[in-house]
Amino acid sequence: MKKYAILCSGGDCQGMNACIKAFVNTCNAHGHKPVGILRGYQGLIDNEFIDLTDDMVENIANIGGTIIKTSRSDEFKTPVGFQKALKNLKKHNIDSLVILGGDGSFRGAADLHKSGIKVICIPSTIDNDLFFTDNTLGFDTAVMNAVSAIDNIKQTMSATDKAMIIELMGRNCGDIALYTALVIGADSVALAEVDTKIKDIINDISLSIERGCKSPVIIMSEAVDYSIKDVEKAIQKHLGLDVRSSELGYIQRGGAPSLLDRMLAVEFAVRAFMLLSEGKSGLALGVDDNFVFDIPIEEANQAPKRFRKDLLKKLYILKNRIN
Ligand code: ADP
Repeated sequence: MKKYAILCSGGDCQGMNACIKAFVNTCNAHGHKPVGILRGYQGLIDNEFIDLTDDMVENIANIGGTIIKTSRSDEFKTPVGFQKALKNLKKHNIDSLVILGGDGSFRGAADLHKSGIKVICIPSTIDNDLFFTDNTLGFDTAVMNAVSAIDNIKQTMSATDKAMIIELMGRNCGDIALYTALVIGADSVALAEVDTKIKDIINDISLSIERGCKSPVIIMSEAVDYSIKDVEKAIQKHLGLDVRSSELGYIQRGGAPSLLDRMLAVEFAVRAFMLLSEGKSGLALGVDDNFVFDIPIEEANQAPKRFRKDLLKKLYILKNRIN
């Protein structure tokens, strides 16, 4: 019997629990012992290890967040903290570890791999900012949550002919904003990737108004270098519209994972288990055209930034905008 550990690191995302459940079930089905490390890399340092049973994970697949908690740990980046983490892994007789997180967590994982721990990384972040994979775990649900919230807000805005500006998460990556804007048919989308200016937003909205739109929707990525209040003021000044703005915030991160995220969670967990049982290490899992693959962690972290310009073009066609 071997021990296989799992931890979540950095920001949480939907699908983490579904992935933990699938991993625990797979380990137990194969007669191995799944161990959860609480609070990510900090839990490695603080010796927070727990045995995970099928019973504990039975009803968690449809819940957001993570039952084994997550955190950011500056201490892990120090030589002393790192050595403590290694010592605790040895103490618990663990040499195989699955890590759910984003690019920072992947860097920590690469260090553990170099120190002889067998690690497999699962891309887990709502931001979709790991460019070696089509999708990260949690991204699909984050977009679904944004779309659903905006659909609701739009009903009340259009009842009183108000314009609305919604800022979405994603850190430096505009994917949540781009996908959401396309799905809802936004009148304008502001993205750092194409350096959208406030005057571009005003032009977009003027065109929509000319065509009879009374309640235009503007989607903003949090990566642009102006605020929703700046856009609100510009719209009032140049177009005289009644306008409301909102940062959607953490609603994008919580809630039940979508079907796609549950599929990814299970596929990633089973693949991670298989790779560890084959003695493989230093790999990151990704998905390409619905098929799961693995590549060295360093290669995954070096993938150049990807931007789905084709999706933006579709939004321009939908709105008959010149790009
Ligand atoms: P994410 O994994 O979502 O990108 P962070 O960038 O905050 O989130 O990273 C999560 C954790 O990974 C950090 O708190 C730290 O413990 C570890 N980490 C981040 N960057 C490095 C690095 N360069 N080397 C080693 N560990 C790192």
